[in-house]
Amino acid sequence: MITIYKAEYTFIDDRFHKDQALAVQGDHILDIGSFAVLCSRYPEAIIEDWSGYALFPGTINAHNHSFQSLLRGIATDEPFLVWRDQALYKYTPALDAQTLYAGALLAFGEMLKYGVTTVADFFYVHGNGIENDEAILKAADDLGIRFVMARTMYDWDGAPFSYRETVADAVTRTRTLAKRYAAHPRLTIHPAPHSPHAASPEMIQAGHHLAKELDVPFHIHVAEEMFEVNDILRDYGARPIHYLDQLGVVDESLLAIHLVWLEQSEIDLLGARKASLAYCPSSNMFLADGVTKIPELLQAGVRIALGTDGGCSNNRISVFEEMRMTALLQKVHRLDATALGALDTLTMGTRNGAEILRLQTGKIAPAYAADFVALDLTDLSLQPFSPELLPAHIVYSMQPTAIRRVVIAGKEVMRDGAILTVPEKRIRNLVADAQERFAQIENTTSANQS
Ligand SMILES: [Zn+2]
Repeated sequence: MITIYKAEYTFIDDRFHKDQALAVQGDHILDIGSFAVLCSRYPEAIIEDWSGYALFPGTINAHNHSFQSLLRGIATDEPFLVWRDQALYKYTPALDAQTLYAGALLAFGEMLKYGVTTVADFFYVHGNGIENDEAILKAADDLGIRFVMARTMYDWDGAPFSYRETVADAVTRTRTLAKRYAAHPRLTIHPAPHSPHAASPEMIQAGHHLAKELDVPFHIHVAEEMFEVNDILRDYGARPIHYLDQLGVVDESLLAIHLVWLEQSEIDLLGARKASLAYCPSSNMFLADGVTKIPELLQAGVRIALGTDGGCSNNRISVFEEMRMTALLQKVHRLDATALGALDTLTMGTRNGAEILRLQTGKIAPAYAADFVALDLTDLSLQPFSPELLPAHIVYSMQPTAIRRVVIAGKEVMRDGAILTVPEKRIRNLVADAQERFAQIENTTSANQS
């Protein structure tokens, strides 16, 4: 079955073109051309008249921790280590498959409303098995979002038990899931050794090795806070990227998260090895991490995608928002309005993210996934309107009210603010159940303290 989407403007090759229609077959874009040409080429096609909309590629959220949406609002305005202990670690005992499923529905459901069509979830609450992982995958599947599970490999013994695995278990379980979902059209598994401070050298090397075996990138947090750099220097006598290089894992499969505290020699090495960054500017601001040197990393040849990070260290989870934050943060940090432009950040939030995750999506072109959003050209946040102004509007002025429809793999999943795949009432109810579980922990803690 072929569907022709007739829109006012379509974003192709970095600019908006008038009266370009898309022919979608199944889950991918088959053809692009004028409406008249596509109608004559595919006379049997169903017509979707989306006049008044501009079609834009769905955005790619390259870094999230879905369950953290359940912790939103807890221990805000606190330093990272206080937040970690009072929000993250404290409520971890309540995070079983059911609660994690609720968190994932909340995070991914909210993302659909803001035009995220692919999300990479850096997931580490495994509970010494894969049942929890399956709950997250089910949530992504139920909502219809394109999904990468960055399955965390974690063996630092200071963390809660449910995060930790032996190297052998982490490899076996990650591989099992990768094989189980290998044929799934929207779900993919990548290995993700947590970080140089929370994964042993053996765990990091095992993650890198597995990434090669599966022909996917591996995800790892690197140099988010200054203390991490100092810890690695103390323990291994090298700065984080040089330490990772000693382990033999700095290459094109490296997808590093954050990279706030780097020296130029580390930036140069990442560029030379064609490594990538998932940049999370709002989270870096929220936790007062610091400012990543984006222009230097681009200059060195590092590929950059955007991520929201978890819903309790941001606290919004929109990639359009991260585009804006990326540009604004770099400008103010350098006192230079030319530091980074709208089109650069649009590309990071769409095509770059897809390329780094090795998915055929993130742009509107034949053979690419039919993942796109429809922007309402009458929305006041997009006025004054012209196709030339629209890319800058999307980054700097657009509000979620302009995002009217979202299509993933050829299926409409959000329309006029409503998720079409899972009832929002159900999501709210499941989140309320999770909140009750958290309240029980709160009561137990205060009873123990009194
Ligand atoms: Zn993270």
